[in-house]
Amino acid sequence: MQGSDSSEPAIGWQGIDAAAREIDVSLSEDQIRRLERYRDLLLDWNQRFNLTAVTEPDEVDRRLVLDAVRMLPAFNAHVAKGASVVDIGSGGGLPAVPLAILRPDVSFTLIEATGKKTTFLRAAASELGLERFSVIHGRAEECGHDLRYRGTFDAATARAVASLPALVELLMPLVKVGGVALLPKGLELTGELAAGEIAAEMLKAAIISSDVMPGGEARLVVVRKIGPSPKSYPRRAGIPAREPLGGSALQQRSSSGASA
Ligand code: SAM
Repeated sequence: MQGSDSSEPAIGWQGIDAAAREIDVSLSEDQIRRLERYRDLLLDWNQRFNLTAVTEPDEVDRRLVLDAVRMLPAFNAHVAKGASVVDIGSGGGLPAVPLAILRPDVSFTLIEATGKKTTFLRAAASELGLERFSVIHGRAEECGHDLRYRGTFDAATARAVASLPALVELLMPLVKVGGVALLPKGLELTGELAAGEIAAEMLKAAIISSDVMPGGEARLVVVRKIGPSPKSYPRRAGIPAREPLGGSALQQRSSSGASA
């Protein structure tokens, strides 16, 4: 489909390639072809399955695929060759599918609560030839207590799933001690970051950076697990998002007059 209604100029694959080069990421022709195929699959299935609110090809390129490409420098810095990564709330596959195309050495496990989305993710993985890629239909709260997954991943990602403190609670139990969560977030983070820091402390983790990513449109919060997660976390399904740890701790601190 040509010509989107977006007021911004079309970015196209040359634009993605150019943006990648600016951050010293060089995409092979095969990777570009597969990113493009993924974009087309996402838009095609989206007409039936409501996988993403983004419906214009150019918007997918700019807002979804390019965002994942821009995570790559930090991803490469924190995720070693052959590592295992869990992505929760994968939806239509962001950022996990582009990252799996860009880092084929890494094993990805996606945890997604909605069945029709897992159907899409499995079909896309097969169509795109993603070999080290598996999809779990389930909730991160439950996988976090399942010994097949708890404490087994080198790193974690999640995009547009929950607030920072909820993500800390959902992801830290899944990663190994010393592992990291890489979380793309909006530019304005002040309250969330404060709550996230308190949640991280409770989960024996620490927020080590929240730098603005290349392109200047988003931040990447990096959380490192520094000790085993207390057994009570994550709490029951839905509670981490509804009653974020840092939120209640922040309220308690302010009502008791304690300083952070
Ligand atoms: N990450 C994708 C993206 O950036 O486009 C999807 C974002 S979508 C807004 C949030 C997704 O998270 C939904 O597909 C929802 O089913 C899933 N989700 C929310 N909470 C979850 C949980 N606790 N465990 C697994 N999946 C969850």
